[in-house]
Parts: sequence; C-alpha cells; structure tokens
Amino acid sequence: ALGRLFVSRPFFYLNPQLTKLSRTVLWFNSAMPDREQTTLPFQKEEQPVAKKQKVEGVVKVAVPLFLPKLLDYKWCGNTSPVENVFVDVEVGKKKMHGLVVDVPTKSEAKKLKRAMPLLDVPPLAPATSAFWRWAARYVLSAPGDPLRASLLKGQVPDKPAPARRLIKGSIVPKPLTKARQKVMERVGENSWLLADLARVAGVSTSVIHGLVKQKALVWKVLPEVAPTPKFSDVTLNESQQKAADALMAAFGEFQPFVLDGTMGSGKTEVYFEAIEKVLRQKEGQVLLLVPEISLTPQLLKRFEQRFGFMPEVWHSSIGEAARRRTWWRVHTGSGRVILGARSALFLPFQSLQMLIVDEEHDASYKQEDAFRYHGRDMAVAMARHWQCPVVLASATPSLESWHNVQTGKYTHLKLQGRYGGAVLPEVHLVDLREDKPGTDRFLSPSLLEALAENQERGEQSLLFLNRRGVAPLLICRDCGHRHDCPRCDASLVVHGVAFNGKLVCHHCGFTEMYPDTCSKCGSDKLHPFGPGTRKVLAEVKAAFPSAKVAVADSDSISNPADMGDLVKELETDQIDILIGTQMVAKGHHFPNLTLVGVLDGDMGLASGDLRAAERTFQLLMQVSGRAGRGKRPGRVLLQTHQPEHPFMQALASLERDGFYQQELAARKPWGDPPFGRQVAVHVSGQDENRVVHAAQKLAQNFTEKKGMRLLGPAPAVVKRVNDVYRYRLLVKSATPAQTTVEEWLANTSIPPGVRVEVDVDPMRM
Ligand code: ADP
Ligand code: ZN
Ligand code: ZN
Repeated sequence: ALGRLFVSRPFFYLNPQLTKLSRTVLWFNSAMPDREQTTLPFQKEEQPVAKKQKVEGVVKVAVPLFLPKLLDYKWCGNTSPVENVFVDVEVGKKKMHGLVVDVPTKSEAKKLKRAMPLLDVPPLAPATSAFWRWAARYVLSAPGDPLRASLLKGQVPDKPAPARRLIKGSIVPKPLTKARQKVMERVGENSWLLADLARVAGVSTSVIHGLVKQKALVWKVLPEVAPTPKFSDVTLNESQQKAADALMAAFGEFQPFVLDGTMGSGKTEVYFEAIEKVLRQKEGQVLLLVPEISLTPQLLKRFEQRFGFMPEVWHSSIGEAARRRTWWRVHTGSGRVILGARSALFLPFQSLQMLIVDEEHDASYKQEDAFRYHGRDMAVAMARHWQCPVVLASATPSLESWHNVQTGKYTHLKLQGRYGGAVLPEVHLVDLREDKPGTDRFLSPSLLEALAENQERGEQSLLFLNRRGVAPLLICRDCGHRHDCPRCDASLVVHGVAFNGKLVCHHCGFTEMYPDTCSKCGSDKLHPFGPGTRKVLAEVKAAFPSAKVAVADSDSISNPADMGDLVKELETDQIDILIGTQMVAKGHHFPNLTLVGVLDGDMGLASGDLRAAERTFQLLMQVSGRAGRGKRPGRVLLQTHQPEHPFMQALASLERDGFYQQELAARKPWGDPPFGRQVAVHVSGQDENRVVHAAQKLAQNFTEKKGMRLLGPAPAVVKRVNDVYRYRLLVKSATPAQTTVEEWLANTSIPPGVRVEVDVDPMRM
C-alpha cells in the first residue's frame, strides 16, 4: 500500500510536547555529568590504539528507547566518525548500544558524553540503515524504534562462540536401522546443531548420540558457515513456471508482485523456485515472512526437505541463544534464508535479494503497540531500499494489494487452479432461519447430517467458529445479569467449563474464577451464553459418541509446538472432527479433510470496522479452501441468517473478484483505503474530562488542507479499558498526511496525564 517514497528530512523529531508522555524520557537527563568511560570486555585489545590516536567529532546516535529524537555524542574511536556504526553509549545512567546515523559538523549541546564504537561488530548495511530511518519516519515513531526492535534488551547480542556441530563421519553405521538411515540421509554435506538434526530426521537425540559413538557422525567446533543447499528437480506447471520466471527476471531491481492463487495452487513451490535461484549464487539473503509463528513448523519442514538445511528462524518465542545466533548470521550474511514473523524485518540484513510475504492479507502483520508498523507495507519499502523484488502471496489478497494490481503498481502473477487438478469445494449456504439448530445448540440438522456422512466414509471434518476470541459470556438466568469486567466497558468471557473454568477480560486480561453464584442476585443459575468451542464440543460428542474429536483454540494451542502436534494428529488420522477458531484457517495442509462447517457465517459482518467484510470474506474463503485438498472433493456448509446477502452469495459461488469489485466500489465514494490514506490519533488517560478536553483542543487546532479531513473526536468502541478512557481522531487524506499530522501535534500542547499516540494506516478502529 505504499505508493511512493517519502521524500523528506532524513530524521524525524517527535513533538517535544509529546516527550512528556513517554515513560522512558523521565529518567533521561542530558545534564547528567559525564561518567568515567567504561569499556566492554571485547574492546580491551583495541584500547591502546584508541588512546594513541583519538579522532574526535560529534555523532548523532539512535538509541533503543522510545525517545523522540536522536542524541548527540562525542565520538571516541581511532578513525574518523562514520555512519552505521554501532556504539556503546550511556543514556542517563544506563549503558546501552546505539547506532550512529549522522555525523554533523557541530552540536548545540554544551557537554557531550562519549560514544565508543563497538569494534568487533561490523557496521550496519547502508540499505538496512536507510530502511530503518524511513520506517520510523513513515509511522511517525521514535527514530530509535527500529533499532530497539532489532537489539536484544538494548544491546547488540554477544557474538556466539563457535558451536559444536555434527558432520558426516567416514563410517557407515551398523546396523543401519531405519532411524539411523534417516539421519544419515539428512546430514548431507552440512553441519548441524544436534537439536536441528534430530528434528529434521524425526528421531530422538539418543539415535544421534549412538551414531557419534560409532563415528558415523563426528562433532566439530565450527564457525558459522553458510549451509550448502541441495537442489531437487521440481517441474512447475505452465502458470507456475511463468510466475517463477517473472520473479527471477526481477532480481536486482525493485518490483512488487502479487502471487495470487487458490490454496494448493503452488504459490510456495513458485517462491521456493526463486529462493533456489538466490541460493545458487554465492551470497544473497531472502526474507520469508509468515503472519503467525504457528505457521513456521510446517514451512520449516517443507523448506528443509527441499533444500537440505534449516533456514534461520526468528520470532518472539525462540530462545535467547537462538536469537543471538540468528542475529549474527543475518548480520554477517551467512544466514541465507530467514523465516520469521514481522519482527524479522528489523534484523541487520547484509545482502538482501528478495522478500516474500506469505498470506499477505493477514491482519496479524500489523503491530498494534508502540511501534505501529504494518509488516507487509514495510516489506515493500524494504525491497525498495534494497532494490529487489518482493512477493506478496495470498489466495485472498488484501484490497490494498488488489488495488495496486489494478492500478498497475504491482505485478499480478496468477496461478491457475489447484496443483494436480484437485477441484474447489462446493459451498452450500445453510439458512439458519429454516434449518434451525436445537435450543442453545449450534449445529443445524443439515450440518449434522453431513457430519454423519463424513463419519461413515472415514473422512475428516472441521467445524469452524469465526468469532474472535471464541468463548461465551456468562449470563444469570434469574436476573439476566451479565458478568462484566470491572475495569473495562466489556463483558468477561468464559474459558474452560464451570468448576475449573475462568472468566477473562479480552481487553485488559482481568481474570477471576468461574463463580458459583450470580454476583448480583446470588442465584446459582448461571449460564454461558453464545457459541464457544467447549459447548460445540459437548454437542458434537453427544451426537457422535464414538468420533475422535479435538479442539483448536487459544486455550489449547499456545505455541508452534502445540500446532505441530495437532497437524501431525490430523495427518495421521487421529482426529475425525476438529473444532477450531481462526487459528486453523491459516496455511495448513490437511489432506483428508473433506467437510468444513462454518457455524457462524454472519459474525463479523455487523461491526463498524471498515475492513470487517473484507476480513470475514478472506477468512471464510480460507477456511473453505481447507476442504478437499487431497484427491477427494470437499464441501463447505456455511450457516447464516441472511443467505440472500450479496456477500454470502459471493462466498457461495467462490466469486472472489466479484466481491472485491463490490467492496472497492463501496469504499471509493468515501475515499476510504485503498483510495485514500488515514492516520488515527488516540487520546487516552484516566481522567475522562481531561481526555475529552485534550481531544477537542486537538480537533480545534487542526487546519483543514485540500484533500484532507478530520473526523472526531469520538469514543473508542470500547471506551474504557483497564480504567483508561480512550478517544479517537481520524485524519483522512488523499495523499500521505504524515507531515501535516506531525506539525499539527507539535502545535498543540497536551495536558499532563493525557497520552497521545499516532497510528498511521490504522487497521482497526
Ligand atoms: P500454495 O502455497 O498455493 O497453497 P503449495 O505450493 O503448498 O500451494 O502446493 C500445494 C501442494 O501441491 C504441495 O504439496 C506441493 O508440493 C504440490 N505441488 C504444487 N506444485 C507442484 C509441482 N509443480 N510439482 C510437484 N508438486 C507440486
Ligand atoms: Zn442474577
Ligand atoms: Zn477488562
């Protein structure tokens, strides 16, 4: 959705008024006396040189804090100050690592503290540094935010010591058991960490230790070396080959592609082909982004099977040692392929040659806290800085990307049908007004019938709950009291079941035990109301007592390993019926799944969110794509109260492009994205009067320019969260409005106790 580069001042200074709001700034005091210079252990050797011939100068440094500006330091190195060098600095009394982003001729500040270059950390690649600067500027965030996202606890991670790795020995193991054979096949010409080898070969580490004993494998302490890929012959079909050729022809130039094809059409095969081309060169890196870390295990396995080595993995739940290793492998360029969540965008790339954003339409690419960037848009900008192609892959592209295809900004690569000719599922609308489930039940008679048929044939079924955070609310049957969060304008939702269940607030995390009695009237007739995975589970178990039923929701799947286990159970037919929420909609292959029942097709349509229909459509298309991936055709039963709705009709005929046209036509007259731009300004605080007052003042201070409009202030959908009142203003504009917003906020003084946050290209209102 990034139409063009922001040509502007290289650095962004946030409104000085806003600094009052930041927590970190409170302990920052530039008047702090200079302290004795301290060195890090690894700098010791270089120290005498530095003392002999010190070159001084002023440097502007980005520090990994939410600080509105760059800080000036006195350069203390043995060469002239240069950009993109990591330095050791103090902010207040805290030591941390910063990045030199500018070398001005002089400084306004009177007394400067020292910045010591980190001598054994190579400088950041200029394209990475330029991208970071652009990113912070684009989202109107602090200039140190990308650095903060890249470092670990404010520090460049320590260089990992050369690790003990396993390589092939000269002996053929005896006896050559199946497990041993698998290991020996996998080892190839690469060196492996014990855990990685065990994982890819699918054996326990004891098998590997046994092989070491026999000297079929040997330990070697090896520095980080780039892996040797193996290449396999894949014959692409015509449309796949055309797409892959177009991608590979774009190497070395900036070009965004939308790789569009139904699930199973071979999008992954196509970008693997392009990755192969990068790997056949001596150097060059590829960043492959996935929206959710639960998607990594399957892709990892597939990647490893194809290329014979593990890509670098980067997301929030890898351990610290792995983070250190990956950071350095990316920084030195020995990490060739990086598979990660959006935060991998801020790794210190050295020679990036291609980016891939898988499931590019996914809303989880947007980061919703302090550094509010959209991973897909950042990937496009990053590709521009590196002058390389970027691939946005999806069966249901975002309307932003779709619009960019239609206006010719992005190149459309369309894959035809499903690979191997598997057919698309049939979608039937189930009219809940006639085909009614029983009281407080969720499965219509026709869905129950379809489930029974599938059971008989020994095929798998998925029951899908579309609602976010699926869980029922707790209602008292005597007085009608609904159990709400004491800190928010929101209801608590039920997790688990009575006796060992909990009530949880999905906004602030408030949790209490499942109560025995109503907190208002004392009645014990409490009843969880609305569909929840547990209630559906009970209903399914009652109807199909002998079926193997499993649930996949946020309570049962909390990390990639859980998801991996679930996928394995599905692949090995240990599950007949899966009841799942949004997490099962994404990217997984379940070959024996032939029936999908969507229990609440209407959910999500009614909300006031601009993208609600788009998101629901994409999600339901994706779930529908789950059916019939193998040889058997699939069926989708979509339960709805309004089958005549154009939206439902589009779904039933799998008419994606028709729906997109309809949706674009609805947005165009309002100048809504993708036709126009938006910047949301969030005003919040504990004193509602003050918040309202500040928001009104901001609105008064806004001078309308041509093609620009301010909406609000209006209370947020959930006005009070965790006892903080939240109001919103929305700037709508024809072209990017960052400069205007920045000036506007700088010219309005905000009272203490009120917090102002900016969200450029907001994804939710
Ligand atoms: P998508 O990413 O579009 O969902 P995949 O790349 O995962 O599609 O392809 C679906 C399945 O079809 C995978 O098992 C994949 O290995 C297989 N497949 C796709 N194209 C080819 C091909 N050209 N040759 C062999 N297998 C293919
Ligand atoms: Zn009551
Ligand atoms: Zn709450």
